[in-house]
Amino acid sequence: MFKKILIANRGEIACRVAATCKRLGIRTVAVYSDADAQARHVKACDEAVHIGGSSPKDSYLRWERIIEAANATGAQAVHPGYGFLSENEEFAAACKAAGLVFIGPPASAIQAMGLKAESKQLMERAGVPLVPGYHGAGQDAAMLKGEADRIGYPVLIKASAGGGGKGMRAVENAADFDAALASCKREAINSFGDDAVLIEKYVQRPRHIEIQVFGDTHGNYVYLFERDCSVQRRHQKVLEEAPAPGMTEAMRKQMGEAAVAAARAVDYVGAGTVEFIVEQRAGEMNFFFMEMNTRLQVEHPVTEAITGLDLVEWQLRVADGERLPMLQDELKIGGHAIEARICAENPDNNFLPATGRLDVARWPAHVAFRRNADAERLHDAAPVRIDTGFGEGDVISPFYDSMIAKLIVHGSTREQALARLDEALAQTHIVGISTNVQFLRHVVKSRSFETADLDTALIPREQDVLFKQEEVGLPLAAAAAVAQTLLNEKAKEGADPFSRRDGWRSHGINARRFEFEFKGEHVKAELAYLHDGALTLTVGDVSGALRFSSGEGGIDLQFAGQRALASVYANGETDYVFTPQGATQIVAIDLLAHAGEAQAEGGRLTAPMPGKVVSFAVKAGDKVTKGQALAVMEAMKMEHTIAAPADGVVAELMYAPGDQVSEGAELLKIAA
Ligand code: ADP
Ligand code: ADP
Ligand code: MG
Repeated sequence: MFKKILIANRGEIACRVAATCKRLGIRTVAVYSDADAQARHVKACDEAVHIGGSSPKDSYLRWERIIEAANATGAQAVHPGYGFLSENEEFAAACKAAGLVFIGPPASAIQAMGLKAESKQLMERAGVPLVPGYHGAGQDAAMLKGEADRIGYPVLIKASAGGGGKGMRAVENAADFDAALASCKREAINSFGDDAVLIEKYVQRPRHIEIQVFGDTHGNYVYLFERDCSVQRRHQKVLEEAPAPGMTEAMRKQMGEAAVAAARAVDYVGAGTVEFIVEQRAGEMNFFFMEMNTRLQVEHPVTEAITGLDLVEWQLRVADGERLPMLQDELKIGGHAIEARICAENPDNNFLPATGRLDVARWPAHVAFRRNADAERLHDAAPVRIDTGFGEGDVISPFYDSMIAKLIVHGSTREQALARLDEALAQTHIVGISTNVQFLRHVVKSRSFETADLDTALIPREQDVLFKQEEVGLPLAAAAAVAQTLLNEKAKEGADPFSRRDGWRSHGINARRFEFEFKGEHVKAELAYLHDGALTLTVGDVSGALRFSSGEGGIDLQFAGQRALASVYANGETDYVFTPQGATQIVAIDLLAHAGEAQAEGGRLTAPMPGKVVSFAVKAGDKVTKGQALAVMEAMKMEHTIAAPADGVVAELMYAPGDQVSEGAELLKIAA
């Protein structure tokens, strides 16, 4: 087995490959860009080599530099992960020429499967079923239109060199064809440098079902069953599961054998995935070859979960010349697994990717991936797995993919896996950046997903229940914020809730004011402390007893007929509230801070949260009086005024307008 390999990737997949190497006693070399100097994948490996600037073309795509790094560190092989150079036949060939083992298929197989049109011609000859369509070399617009007319509308125009859901146009009728073709070709040339297209029949309400295959250098092939990846947005996968609901033994065997035939046709070696589009018609499922991805797939963990195998270990063994560890009749499916891709994006704004810092990143209880030959036992011990390359405090930068983590659950049945997924998503708390976590929960609970009524239009079909849902209303959000405030004060000062100056007394009852902003509305709340120690909370026109206690899993909260286990994270003035019912945000307006007294810590004026300095109202040497506005900061899309805590003279400004500052940074100095 190899003694040392280089991992030519970043993020979760680099960490995941490193974990298997560690278990097998293989040393690892990471490569990293400027933006990734502090990244987890660098720490996950034994050594690391800086390879250039933040943009992928300056680092993770610079294959000469990567080969140099491998040679300089004495690595014997290179694992490309997915994305970046994983499907680049020149890179695979260059590794070989440099005396390095490329942990993937031979360059010839990558090339054969690299273009969708050519690979379809090849598959046709190998007897693999294809979607009716045109995948010839001719690119004349009038001829392509003629082919579309012959195939019958709707059709799909696909960039032959496309990938990642890009370069596709569905065409409803003949009149729209020319415009769609022109726009598809424009996108294809811009994204892939190649504007060749193919045309396919647009399959109605299809499912995406793919087969994991493996080959070795001794001519052995197996299929490790299927994954259903039908739940997609913008032709990109969101949830993946194995086995595919409704799959019969006969169809599994047929699809598995077709996938192996596809692999065999190109002398494939290592891990690969054959993607099929499945037409559902009158209770029948017909499958057609779509493309082969010649690498490890993002969603490979669901296959690992149902087989109990480590596919990266298989990749390493095969690359080292070993035979496949198991043959077809030794492979078995155990239980059901689902993966959710947790992405930095805003589902309510057309899934626009988001960037920023993971101020809070808490995962559900999980077990790191490890292989166990006895699949069932592994799963009893490890029903939840998290694969991530990021942790609390890390930044999701604009240079790379928006995927933060993959959450994989396993259960003995689909129903159990679903319940575990919902629970695990509820326990996934991310603050500082918008994510699709709540959206995923809605998808998981949608009727279509629950009943396994799967097809690629699931998200648009269920849109009424997927977007902008409100599960945590104002009363519960405010109650959680109040409870958290009282708990914080108690922890800090051991004080009773009414020792603060914003409490007051009326008719012998202690009362305290709170103000919130919730979904753009200003809200007043009042907390009354009764003689018997009970608390009454009034939020808008809702009033009732507030009860809470803090424990392991959060705050056990009861208010206004609702009970929830809430976790509250304060980020500046915003409280992020997570409950099993859902998550929300509420801005707690700090009445003391607004009196101009909170930000001062012994004459130091510090940023109350990470943000940007907007302006200074003073300069060095200015005399200031207590309460005077000194500076304005912007954070979380809101402006905050920093006021003088006492009379004095400005000694020094520590930043300039426009500067980005971290929480606690000293903004200016004031001398008495
Ligand atoms: P897969 O095909 O493995 O299921 P997707 O189809 O979602 O994955 O992703 C499409 C392609 O986008 C991947 O094959 C890869 O080329 C690219 N990609 C996805 N995630 C990343 C990532 N974290 N870094 C770089 N490229 C990525
Ligand atoms: P990519 O290389 O971008 O992954 P694919 O050819 O694998 O491109 O297609 C991506 C997705 O587009 C599929 O998962 C499916 O949802 C949809 N799709 C592809 N071909 C068809 C088709 N003929 N009819 C309907 N949907 C299709
Ligand atoms: Mg695909």
